[in-house]
Amino acid sequence: MNHDESRDLYDRALSVMPGGVNSSVRAVRPYPFFVERGDGAHVVDADGNRYIDYVLGYGPLLYGHDMPDPVRSAVQSYASDGPMYGAPTEIEVEHAEFVARHVPSVEKVRFVNSGTEATVSAVRLARGYTGRDKIVVMKGGYHGAQESTLVEGEPGDTAPSTKGIPDSFAEHTIPVPFNDPEAVDEVFEEYGDDVAAVLTEPILGNTGIVHPVEGYLEHLREVTEEYGSLLIFDEVITGFRVGGLQCAQGKFGVTPDVTTFGKIVGGGFPVGAIGGRADIIEQFSPSGDVFQSGTFSGHPVTMAAGHAYLTYAAENDVYDYVNELGEKLRRGLTDVVEDNAPSYTVVGTDSMFKVIFTREGPDDLTGACEAGCVQRESCPRYDYCPKTGADVANAETERWERIFWQEMKDRGVFLTANQFESQFVSYAHTEEDIEQTLEAYKETL
Ligand code: PLP
Repeated sequence: MNHDESRDLYDRALSVMPGGVNSSVRAVRPYPFFVERGDGAHVVDADGNRYIDYVLGYGPLLYGHDMPDPVRSAVQSYASDGPMYGAPTEIEVEHAEFVARHVPSVEKVRFVNSGTEATVSAVRLARGYTGRDKIVVMKGGYHGAQESTLVEGEPGDTAPSTKGIPDSFAEHTIPVPFNDPEAVDEVFEEYGDDVAAVLTEPILGNTGIVHPVEGYLEHLREVTEEYGSLLIFDEVITGFRVGGLQCAQGKFGVTPDVTTFGKIVGGGFPVGAIGGRADIIEQFSPSGDVFQSGTFSGHPVTMAAGHAYLTYAAENDVYDYVNELGEKLRRGLTDVVEDNAPSYTVVGTDSMFKVIFTREGPDDLTGACEAGCVQRESCPRYDYCPKTGADVANAETERWERIFWQEMKDRGVFLTANQFESQFVSYAHTEEDIEQTLEAYKETL
């Protein structure tokens, strides 16, 4: 594959943008390919190379790169009417009504502009609502580029995980291992009355994919209720991807107090949202005393895109299609891995998937994944599947980034360069794409 144009563009980018990119995950070595356009489930780069895309903008593109007609015309019409006003519009109300109608935890919702903004606001809201400062998070969880969650360490001994964050932020954050109810109990025994919220992805999708073990999310629900803390599900990835329109909370049957959204809820445009019980969300200004505001929040083009996106999904077989294709891909990958890389593991559910370059448990286990969403001890794969972020962090990341990712790209398959980020199947992917992808995995592994 020729990449001359991309290399030249990267040289130009390096001289005007830090690391040559606007989001650090995009800076792959030795240089990223620059996308010229999307086409269905594919992207075409600046040199005319074509790739089957499983990154899908890191999750928002449920339909791949072709917007269904109603989405396209909604976007065009709202953009041409005048992109935004700084005054309320009907489409914000319609979209909020849609989200509240479908997502179990949501009675009211505030739209913002990114997943990060949503989790920042949710943490402030939880602190304001409870009058407490501490936030419990999962090791390996990710909630965007925000001060309160870019934290590492052990309960009582934490530090910011990046320069630029005062230690005082980390003092209020308590990381625990995912899927470890005893660790949560210990933290609540010691700090329970100071804990404003437990903030977790229902499925770890950024150091993952790690599925909840049976009963874990329920346990978080019980313990937060007992201590008067809030349970916040960060559904920026899983929202409107896992569990269809009810999101992961609907699929798992656990209703948090507050949910953060991003990605799909904006139909491919910049978005975030904080939804939840009315009495909690009402604490946001102007109805409450927790300040929250934004020039672009509830942007009409984004609202129109998000609303048309989800309405189309409600009226068509979108989730059945992407989930079936996801299952087909995971089953095919399980066979390929078993034959070619038996120390690796296939994870994912609905339209999320990943092959992680590690495996827990004995080498001689066989058998297909039973449920693919909740880890049950009865499942033949229970011992294989990672339980915590640390289980995944043990993986052969160098091999993924330096060799595997490049080789897949050279075979025309675009995966996330970071071994730990989820990949996705869209409504635009076809059986043929899946076959080609499985062949590429087979050759590469
Ligand atoms: N929360 C989760 C679970 C995410 O995966 C992400 C981003 O990938 C964020 C929050 C931050 O969202 P954004 O990148 O839109 O700020």
